[in-house]
Amino acid sequence: MTRITLALLIALYPLLAQASSKEDLESSKTKLNQYIRLIRANIEKHGTQIAKSTDWNVNFIADQSIIPYAESTNNSEGTNPKIRISSQFRLLLVYLGEMQLIISKKRNLMKCNEEYGNYLFERMALNAKRAATSLPPLDISAPEVFAAKIDGVCAGISKMFPLPESEEEKITPLTYNALYFVYLHELGHIALKHKAIGDEIFYGLTTENEKMEAFLKANVRTQHQEYAADAWATRELIHEGATAEQLVNIPLFELLLASSGLDCQFEKANSHPMATDRYAAIIRIILSSNISIRPELAGAYHEFINFNKRLENSLSCP
Ligand SMILES: [Zn+2]
Repeated sequence: MTRITLALLIALYPLLAQASSKEDLESSKTKLNQYIRLIRANIEKHGTQIAKSTDWNVNFIADQSIIPYAESTNNSEGTNPKIRISSQFRLLLVYLGEMQLIISKKRNLMKCNEEYGNYLFERMALNAKRAATSLPPLDISAPEVFAAKIDGVCAGISKMFPLPESEEEKITPLTYNALYFVYLHELGHIALKHKAIGDEIFYGLTTENEKMEAFLKANVRTQHQEYAADAWATRELIHEGATAEQLVNIPLFELLLASSGLDCQFEKANSHPMATDRYAAIIRIILSSNISIRPELAGAYHEFINFNKRLENSLSCP
């Protein structure tokens, strides 16, 4: 498992998923398209002028990219921006939301949540590698399926599934808000005219080693661009009236962790900065805005920023 290549590999190689959990994926695709339609209608209604005019031209594609991705290609009619998000990505957000709900009820399952997080991280890294060598991705198990396989720290989860409908309903807004942020982050890349390195760098490369090396040299996007897109999305959400609670989304944070890792030693080679740094930067923007924040939440925000500082020190980040 290499964390360095993960973010580099992920974006460039869309692939064909052959999931055995086809049903989950199929219904996830329908829901993904529904959510994106709602999100775009909301941007049209409440968004800033720049968000509206940027989104107007975007072609949304629900495909199999491992992580969401935005690109702008030029043709004779002008630029042709596209945003790609996969149904598997949405499903991951749902799974993480389910896990959050479960540990909020049973604190003794914290350790299980951690194990599940590690599992997701490894799976995504593995799938990114497989994608680079044109192999189909492996399935990602739902929490209850994962729990059944490892037992021990996860004992007791299976009995909580299937979640009652009222519980399922609590996950919907979490997933929706996380996707909203992700969509705006990608829209931000387009609005800010960020340039990514395209597939052309792989042209003429034949061996897997050559391709891997090209990946390692090429930053798909710079870290600076990632922070800028996060900030753009956060300000846009604040403008559109998001609450402080909606802006800090645990499933999204966990997914960032799973996809960008936790080790700043690798940051320089990784296009996506460390997840905790990204979240700390988002929190700083929220704190400096004029949206109202409950005192407990503000306390939690400051605690997170301090936690991030301690983490940076302990990992001896630059
Ligand atoms: Zn990005």
